[in-house]
Amino acid sequence: MNPTTFLVESAKQQPPPAHQYTGKLSSRRITSKQHAYLLALAKKKGLARHELDEMCLSRFRVVLDHVTSADASKLIELFNNKAESPVQAQRPELHEVVDEAKSRQEEIAQLRASPHLSRSQLFLYQSCSLLYKYQYVERRTPERLSLSLPFGKAIHGALEFYYRSRQRGVTEPVGTLEDIFRNQLSKDISTANVPIIFQKETPNLDSAITMGRNMLKTFHAVVDLGENEIAGVEIPLEAMLFSGEAKAPTDYKLVGVIDLLLRDKSGNLTVVDHKTASAQWTSAAVQADLQLTSYSYLLTAGGYASALSDTRCQIDVLRKLKVPKFESIQTIRTPKDRQRFAKIAEGVLAGIDARIFVPNRSWLCGGCGFSKACAAW
Ligand code: SF4
Repeated sequence: MNPTTFLVESAKQQPPPAHQYTGKLSSRRITSKQHAYLLALAKKKGLARHELDEMCLSRFRVVLDHVTSADASKLIELFNNKAESPVQAQRPELHEVVDEAKSRQEEIAQLRASPHLSRSQLFLYQSCSLLYKYQYVERRTPERLSLSLPFGKAIHGALEFYYRSRQRGVTEPVGTLEDIFRNQLSKDISTANVPIIFQKETPNLDSAITMGRNMLKTFHAVVDLGENEIAGVEIPLEAMLFSGEAKAPTDYKLVGVIDLLLRDKSGNLTVVDHKTASAQWTSAAVQADLQLTSYSYLLTAGGYASALSDTRCQIDVLRKLKVPKFESIQTIRTPKDRQRFAKIAEGVLAGIDARIFVPNRSWLCGGCGFSKACAAW
């Protein structure tokens, strides 16, 4: 089946059957008995089906149909426990978020245990296939590390904590976000076993921490979800990649982690990607961004959205400036975009299989961790 046929066929079967999906859903999936019982319990509690799905997304990062049998048992136990309401707003403690992050990392590692292509691998191969080879094929230790990697990771960690709290009805003070950022960045810099490439605007750790804290202050002051509610935070997803040439599934899955999923009052989903950048994102760059298209592919192939519908997407950019800015840019991804994405992914897989790895000079070279190896290539 080619990608086009796959998308069309998926749309005819909403929700698609389990055999179209891969990985953890198959053997340990919720039983029909648990499914029916949970629906009845939710009804008794006055919860609509979409609210039950949101609970599952929040707790297990999948909708009800895709929870595991073990998680379904936990949910049943929770519903039957009169001491705790399953929809009660609850402030997460930091250790809870750390535990959640650990279990999510395990889940992501599980997704990546089988042959896969991630959005970042696809981006890297397209940008510089030699860099891809050093990083993913040979798994070389980099010669140096660009500050932008641990910096972006620490900002992501603070935003994740913020949105998880908001999902439970709590707005964290900005000081908490700043602490999470500072602790994460300091830890990653102090434990790095290669030199760090600092940047002009952040020449050392102290200035990087000041920059990050100012960015989080700006974020906290202006972030506005409008009438949207949070449907999920850091959601790991996977979907089979299809080959147009062989008209069959490839041996590879696409895997990705969605930063934030919003839902409006009509039930429409918007997938949000967090970025940190100095420069402004142009509308052309937003339109061409394959990360959003990969999320659209994962959402539709995973049955979260109709395969024939457009996906609402948003890039939230926290800009590294003396006076930081927070900019939200909306766009959409169409079925045509997803078909194109499938073709690009297929081409990248073919290039990797054929061991085509060549250097491509670009803005990436400035922060490349393999510049000496590249020069000697
Ligand atoms: S230095 Fe530039 S061209 Fe060479 S591997 Fe790194 S990113 Fe690619």
